[in-house]
Amino acid sequence: TEQDTVLEVNNIEVIYNHVILVLKGVSLKVPKGGITALLGGNGAGKTTTLKAISNLLHSERGEVTKGTIMYRGERVQELDPAEMVKRGVIQVMEGRHCFEHLTVEENLLTGAYTRTDGRGAVSADLEMVYNYFPRLKERRTSQAGYTSGGEQQMVAIGRALMSRPETILLDEPSMGLAPQLVEQIFEIVKSVNENEGYTFLLAEQNTNVALRYAHYGYILESGRVVMDGPAAELRENPDVKEFYLGMS
Ligand code: ATP
Repeated sequence: TEQDTVLEVNNIEVIYNHVILVLKGVSLKVPKGGITALLGGNGAGKTTTLKAISNLLHSERGEVTKGTIMYRGERVQELDPAEMVKRGVIQVMEGRHCFEHLTVEENLLTGAYTRTDGRGAVSADLEMVYNYFPRLKERRTSQAGYTSGGEQQMVAIGRALMSRPETILLDEPSMGLAPQLVEQIFEIVKSVNENEGYTFLLAEQNTNVALRYAHYGYILESGRVVMDGPAAELRENPDVKEFYLGMS
């Protein structure tokens, strides 16, 4: 229902460098406590949409020139990125971005730096993250730069969890990972979603896996939403099968 929507993007346009129109009127609704997938090929505008929401476009010379972005009923597109984090919106960037010279555990703790609820709560959450990612517990004293791609993706997600977010924007979690690891990462996203109640908006080129874990999907093409619906329906849609799932 309407009041369950935590994030609403309404007809936004995004322009880079004052001239390049990349999003041409994107609208989407993210229900609280759900997993929503933003799908589409390379360059469709998924990353740009996520960055517009978390207000990370400015450093890329991009701006929202039309439309509105509402979070919990408030217009947020003029806020700075730190304020979005304070409100509970955290983005896990594509390409994992760990602090390579810090250990796995130090990386996780950097996620808690804005918190003011004390060390007890932070260490409890560290245990919570290790609970979801037992592999990270094994690797806690390893330098992040020497861990595998899959482990670095886990660190990036774990670090986001350490900020006690409400909404996690997850950019291309499958990128560069072997199929088995992709499955493992999505299983963890699913259990975090179910157990902690965090809301996920994830961008994925891997339509197949995303539609198996998400509740709802939006398909972007050249900066426009061309289709949206419950994940189960999109999976059965002939066009989606033909163009995105690789089977006709
Ligand atoms: P990918 O999976 O490759 O990241 P995407 O769907 O996330 O694809 P975006 O990264 O949002 O797509 O890119 C959308 C379009 O915007 C592309 O044509 C891209 O070249 C362009 N673009 C992205 N960042 C910039 C930038 N900083 N300046 C100019 N154009 C950009």
